[in-house]
Amino acid sequence: MSKVNADLSELAQTAQEITVAVNSVSETKTSLMRKYQQLGVGWKDKRYEELGDIIRECVRALNDIQKNLLQSNKFILGLIKSIQEYENVNISEGNESDSSFMQRLRNGVSSLAGGERYQYCLGVLTKGHVPSDYIEIIRSRHDNADPTARRVFDGFVDKLMIQNADYPECETAHYSPISYPGHSRGVYYNAEADATNPRGAGATYFHELGHMIDHASSDFHENMSNNIDFGRALIEDGQNVLSTFNNMTSERRNNFLSVIRQDAAHSFSDLIDATTNGQLHGSYGHSRGYWQRSGNLQAEAFAHFFEASMGGGWKLQLLSNMFPTAFAMFREMLESIQPEERTRVLER
Ligand SMILES: [Zn+2]
Repeated sequence: MSKVNADLSELAQTAQEITVAVNSVSETKTSLMRKYQQLGVGWKDKRYEELGDIIRECVRALNDIQKNLLQSNKFILGLIKSIQEYENVNISEGNESDSSFMQRLRNGVSSLAGGERYQYCLGVLTKGHVPSDYIEIIRSRHDNADPTARRVFDGFVDKLMIQNADYPECETAHYSPISYPGHSRGVYYNAEADATNPRGAGATYFHELGHMIDHASSDFHENMSNNIDFGRALIEDGQNVLSTFNNMTSERRNNFLSVIRQDAAHSFSDLIDATTNGQLHGSYGHSRGYWQRSGNLQAEAFAHFFEASMGGGWKLQLLSNMFPTAFAMFREMLESIQPEERTRVLER
């Protein structure tokens, strides 16, 4: 475990203790004022007034203490936020998860410095607003996921991060593999829009996190999917679909096209477009230039296959039937990922 994570835990513990102290000061103030008022029921003279001055002075002093504590906490929470962004956060290992602050962060929404909202969704640290009905959607997809894909997802949650769940809808959702000032590594997307995603509710979430898992599986060195054989299998599968399509009667072709033009067939459309150089496609696809960049075909296929495997329903059958060789290789990749063992090695 890295030094930074240990420090993060200590900072979080300090922040929690300060919060307890602030609450305690607040209770003391209220209690003092209440007792003074109760005394005033049967006692009202000059000495009562003098006592009042002392009490008010005490309350002012307590207010100052409270103000200082809150300022310190704001500073510490700001520090935690910076470290989290820098480290892409791993704060749940070992006994750190015992900290009540961490539990609070894990269980619900916590407001940190600068008004940023953090919460854990399916165990993934998430910055920004996530509607509660949306959490139910992704939870249900997680429950219905293929067990191997779910195991991989669960094994990587501490490495994943949603950097912005309020990313403007007009911008393209993406996974940023590198960090630069103001744009840390992680996923940027709009959770509210993903709740009513025509391609399937939660599709963007599992697609972009699929990209991040592909990258995280090599400790963020390169994408696991980036190998020649996987790329070749995708193209061969795509070419087989194209030749089958070309040999169909026109009626069957039209039927086939109406199926792959559906929103739910978006990932098949994207991959068949890429692997036939645009000769066959539905309603979705990346630009030609995008596919020319080495590794992009494999990365998109990995993310599409992963998203479909995380409770994607019908599109999982469509992809696995149409890209049988590539899909089998994707399954082998998932099965080869053993995040638990990898973590144990790192902790030694
Ligand atoms: Zn993608």
